[in-house]
Amino acid sequence: MSFEIVSSILKRRGVCIEDIAEIVYELQLPYHPQLTMEECVNSVTAVLNKREVQYALYTGIALDELAEQKLLPQPLQSIMEADEPLYGVDETMALGITSVYGMIGLTSFGYLDKEKKGIIEKLNNNKSAIHVFLDDLVAGLAAAASARIAHRYEGAKNYSIPSDIERS
Ligand code: MG
Repeated sequence: MSFEIVSSILKRRGVCIEDIAEIVYELQLPYHPQLTMEECVNSVTAVLNKREVQYALYTGIALDELAEQKLLPQPLQSIMEADEPLYGVDETMALGITSVYGMIGLTSFGYLDKEKKGIIEKLNNNKSAIHVFLDDLVAGLAAAASARIAHRYEGAKNYSIPSDIERS
């Protein structure tokens, strides 16, 4: 139910799950050559099913849309219209999504924030709409889904524990 709401809001803002999954695929393929797009779509879906992720998306996208309608109080309205680089609340909110999956999520987010791949670049270049929050939230989603895949592959490995450690 809430997954349907959040995915339809994303769609309204020009982002589909496959767009995010493509970034995940590109990020994780070098580490897992057998990775499929289906696994990436599933991972994005799993992240979007988390309540704290849904809440971050509702909040950030609402602020983008209110800014487009010029309904925010000053000085926030001007800050959002200028996409003020020192604002930083957009990145902070996106990190809330990513931090669910630990340090791998954080480093992937930092990379995407610099490299702006795929749909993130499109959102960033679309000057007819306000995407102050959405570009970072999508980067946060991609980083989280990517970290989730990394954790799952690591979790599937069998480490043999040296016997001296096992005894201690
Ligand atoms: Mg931003």
